[in-house]
Amino acid sequence: MLSRLRISPAVTAFGLGFGLALASVAPASAADSTTAGCLFHDAHFHLTNYVQQGTDLRKYVDEIMGEKICRSTVFGIPLQQTWSYENSGNFAPTYYLQSDAPLYYYSFTDAYIANAYQKLTPGQQKRLDPMITGFNPADMYAADHIRRVLETFPGVFTGIGEFTIHKEFVSSKVAGDIASLTDPALDRLLEFAGEEGLVVILHNDIDMPFAKAGAEPVFLTQMKELLRRHPKTTIIWAHLGLGRVVHPVQGQATSGTAERNPAYRDIVQGMINDPTLSHVYFDISWDEVAKYAVASPQSIANTVAIFNKAPERFLFGTDNVAPPDQATQLRVYQMWDPIWAQLTPEASQKIRFGNYERLFDAARVKVRAWEAANVR
Ligand SMILES: [Zn+2]
Repeated sequence: MLSRLRISPAVTAFGLGFGLALASVAPASAADSTTAGCLFHDAHFHLTNYVQQGTDLRKYVDEIMGEKICRSTVFGIPLQQTWSYENSGNFAPTYYLQSDAPLYYYSFTDAYIANAYQKLTPGQQKRLDPMITGFNPADMYAADHIRRVLETFPGVFTGIGEFTIHKEFVSSKVAGDIASLTDPALDRLLEFAGEEGLVVILHNDIDMPFAKAGAEPVFLTQMKELLRRHPKTTIIWAHLGLGRVVHPVQGQATSGTAERNPAYRDIVQGMINDPTLSHVYFDISWDEVAKYAVASPQSIANTVAIFNKAPERFLFGTDNVAPPDQATQLRVYQMWDPIWAQLTPEASQKIRFGNYERLFDAARVKVRAWEAANVR
């Protein structure tokens, strides 16, 4: 029911009920001075789509972020959908589900983003954290691409990603080597990101599509091992590892066997409690993820409980791709209204603003220092 109500930003920010009173007496924090009137910072935003078309960056800052979104990451999509005339004729596909033709890595996306960023005013630039995405994570040279981008466009980028290892319907369409969590190329990449202080946004489905109920998510163990190998790198696991059909596993005992599969919240809670994964964060972006969180009173309660317990580990993002206007941009945020309404003020602040500022501000400082020391 709550999801159908329009909740005012002030009330949403501090939780329903006692929210307004708190807002008026709360001491001014750093966030208050920089986020007044804003609903969130966007930790996951694509300026362009699968055929490198998108929103003008100046328009994104001035009109779409406007006064509702204070800060935002900005990246393209590294994978370009081929328009194969043999496959779809005169139909020009703009999404990976619209063609059988392969996707390929389109490195020019980084130059495109950097160029658009450099044309902004300093005031506009301050609100953005551009990310490098145009590399093939199955290529041992991927780290060299990142270095080259930083050398060519110093002062621009804060991190790398979103890039993808396993993704339903996408991975199998990528031309060339299949990406893998066990590929040394990926280790080299994450090692390098750690040395330079780049924040990493990594998309990796926790499971295969249409997985059998009761089985452990197929990529969970490999993912945790990969993350553990890179404790010095700040890594944000995009979408909590979920996808359009890669859904949260249900906790249940399968009939007749001792095999038990923990519920999804237990998997996430287990990672949060694991000291070897303290450098790992989760973004809750994508409307497909929001749909799971608000699916039922139970899913809402589970989500609220875990967010309130460990709010420093989650970041809100939209995962919007080239939105035409602000109303479109805000829709994913509004899907979470039933959950925003029940978070503690502290949890709400951290997930929407505080964690973004902590991680991305720290990365900006480190990357600029690396550039100062390494770029002539
Ligand atoms: Zn995304």
